[in-house]
Amino acid sequence: MTAQNKTDQNSDNNHNNDNVLQSTQSVIADALDKLGYSSEVFELLKEPIRMLTVRIPVKMDDGSTKIFTGYRAQHNDAVGPTKGGVRFHPNVSETEVKALSIWMSLKAGIVDLPYGGGKGGIICDPRTMSFRELERLSRGYVRAISQLVGPTKDIPAPDVFTNSQIMAWMMDEYSRIREFDSPGFITGKPLVLGGSHGRETATAKGVTICIREAAAKKGIQLEGARVVVQGFGNAGSFLAKFMHDAGAKVIAISDAYGGLHDPEGLDIDYLLERRDSFGTVTKLFKDTITNQELLELDCDILVPAAIENQITEKNANQIKASIVVEAANGPTTLEATRILSERGILLVPDVLASAGGVTVSYFEWVQNNQGYYWTEEEVEEKLEKVMVKSFETVYTTAMNRKVNMRLAAYMVGVRKMAEASRFRGWI
Ligand code: NAD
Repeated sequence: MTAQNKTDQNSDNNHNNDNVLQSTQSVIADALDKLGYSSEVFELLKEPIRMLTVRIPVKMDDGSTKIFTGYRAQHNDAVGPTKGGVRFHPNVSETEVKALSIWMSLKAGIVDLPYGGGKGGIICDPRTMSFRELERLSRGYVRAISQLVGPTKDIPAPDVFTNSQIMAWMMDEYSRIREFDSPGFITGKPLVLGGSHGRETATAKGVTICIREAAAKKGIQLEGARVVVQGFGNAGSFLAKFMHDAGAKVIAISDAYGGLHDPEGLDIDYLLERRDSFGTVTKLFKDTITNQELLELDCDILVPAAIENQITEKNANQIKASIVVEAANGPTTLEATRILSERGILLVPDVLASAGGVTVSYFEWVQNNQGYYWTEEEVEEKLEKVMVKSFETVYTTAMNRKVNMRLAAYMVGVRKMAEASRFRGWI
């Protein structure tokens, strides 16, 4: 890539991230307005209360030292400690991390957890780094943010291109700094280090429950329904598997390199066995489609489970699904949300649909604090209750207030934060 191309791509990413933050702020403003809160509440909630930028020197395997830039945003801690994942990706930016931390606050509000939202990220490409380089980067990040985080302050978790191994290194580094074992510092850990049963599949389970509830509202049978999933990582691959197991026909999946399409239904178990740890599988096939083509396929249920800004005003009119359920954060722009809503497509927004992950992260933290661990059945039963109740609350709000599901979800999500901030005397 030339320097000019790189600059163009960075400026596109910054532009997209600015849009993502501005869109989130505008829906928060609408939600607060509908709920009758003053503009001071918006002034408090439109940005994180704390934002840290860190520079992390890492010794690379070739002997050189590379300096990485990382961020940690804490949106609002009126309800409780902040909570949210850490993303390792070349396109991470301060604006993206801010928007993601706001979404975490909304999710915590929607599923009624005693948390505010936080988020972190490091500008890097883990696909090009060795195992040891990733360990040094993960530990360096924790050293850099250690003053700001902790089991009762701000609790990180996995996100795009981070996994349980990275959580384990981060937990170990934090425990070394504090000189006592701190499993509750981070969630998404391996089971042997205090992870929770069901955490790995929690986001996909939550999305599955939302699909089931949305399909029931629309009178669509899951058995035989045609499902398209964009992204085959943690969220997308497990979701494809759960849909397949529920009798739906997963007719297309994709990763960063393209998509696979079979109108008769793909062999999901076969693809799951072959995907790599970064959620890549399509490179093994010649006959692929583009991600753009995938989004516009004729299907009943479309699940964007990869990255932001995938359904925009450019392709919203070409979407053929009856239900769009956002497993990814921010895959649909505001303009596209409006178009889909006008076309009668039921859109279940990210802040509700993907809240299963943070819900089971909360369960993991509770188990760490108690030192008492639950079975997979207990976790799943509790998750089911939380997701069904949250879906119903948001859906009923949308129906009663005659607003789309995104605005309804924001109304449900901001209320607790706004009330907690008011009781604390902040506004
Ligand atoms: P992941 O890193 O495990 O997988 C990401 C997938 O998206 C991979 O298949 C990758 O190839 C694909 N991808 C990357 N860039 C793409 C592009 N330009 N076009 C199409 N596909 C692309 O990540 P994940 O954990 O599955 O997260 C996916 C989305 O779900 C993110 O938006 C994340 O914030 C959101 N999410 C994840 C969780 C969780 O618990 N994992 C929870 C809530 C929300």
